[in-house]
Amino acid sequence: MEGIARDQLAVYLNDWLEIDRFKDYSPNGLQVEGKAHIRRLAVAVTATREVIEKAADWGADALIVHHGWFWRGEDPRLVGYRQKRLRALLVAEINLFAFHLPLDVHQEVGNNVCLGRVMGWPSPALLGEQQLIARADLPEAVSAEALQQQLAFHLERPVLAVGAVDRPIQRLAWCTGAAQDMIQAAADLGADAFVSGEISERSTYMAREIGITYFAAGHYATERFGVQALGKHLQARFPLQSRFIEDPNPA
Ligand SMILES: [Zn+2]
Repeated sequence: MEGIARDQLAVYLNDWLEIDRFKDYSPNGLQVEGKAHIRRLAVAVTATREVIEKAADWGADALIVHHGWFWRGEDPRLVGYRQKRLRALLVAEINLFAFHLPLDVHQEVGNNVCLGRVMGWPSPALLGEQQLIARADLPEAVSAEALQQQLAFHLERPVLAVGAVDRPIQRLAWCTGAAQDMIQAAADLGADAFVSGEISERSTYMAREIGITYFAAGHYATERFGVQALGKHLQARFPLQSRFIEDPNPA
């Protein structure tokens, strides 16, 4: 029979992505139960209403995202936009799977490894707390301006560079998403520059005073690659169809 049982997929994902290894801000694995059998699998960065509606239109039986629901500290009431998202999901009987830190750190489909691959950087060492910082030495030193242009080209969006921007960059560290407060940790790992998605007002001064270049390349833009790699992996391994659903986000 074409497809795979939901419970079999859940066990495979939890095991392969090693969810028990992580201290995380939201539950990893199956978050909302849908159909018992999965033939069509949608993947997306965030479980937004737009994504759920597009997945439902395509006839998806499951949706795997990097940013799921039920975040620690979030107002848990199912009202307003949260109710509408959940309703769309339940009506379509789509299973929602979310993998947050496990999908940043994974050796094969993690956002960090995948960003490095897209950028053509050498294969990184995964270091720091929960192995969240990827670090690699570029074959030759580059200027901050050149690296900024390469990031903007591959991520198809403007990229901010702040801090010690006159310094040549050879040892590079990165962590996708909202890791701007890991600038010090990256400097402690000997990095000349650190790349993440978001920027805070304080990030500029931290980078300047620590003496490191910080690139803010977009949260969404740096985290589009892990779920796509995971979808391809699952499609190759199991008899199911996978599709990436965009919900573009400039932040
Ligand atoms: Zn993120």
